[in-house]
Amino acid sequence: MTVCSFNDPRSIPCRKVVYRDAVCFEHAECKCAVCGQQAVTICPHGSGKLCNSPLCGGEDCRLKHHKSHYSG
Ligand SMILES: [Zn+2]
Ligand SMILES: [Zn+2]
Ligand SMILES: [Zn+2]
Repeated sequence: MTVCSFNDPRSIPCRKVVYRDAVCFEHAECKCAVCGQQAVTICPHGSGKLCNSPLCGGEDCRLKHHKSHYSG
């Protein structure tokens, strides 16, 4: 048995049972804010302000996303 691998730092792990996909049907609607692929996590943005952008978990997307936050 596999459970949803979506990792939302704001809440407890999802743990819905999934069959073929990595994430449950609810989280399947979450697409990466950078590349548009399946998101598996939410941008955690540490202290205080949460960003809430879904991210696919790829290192490239994480870096790109953070650059877009901190530039300008
Ligand atoms: Zn889920
Ligand atoms: Zn991505
Ligand atoms: Zn962010």
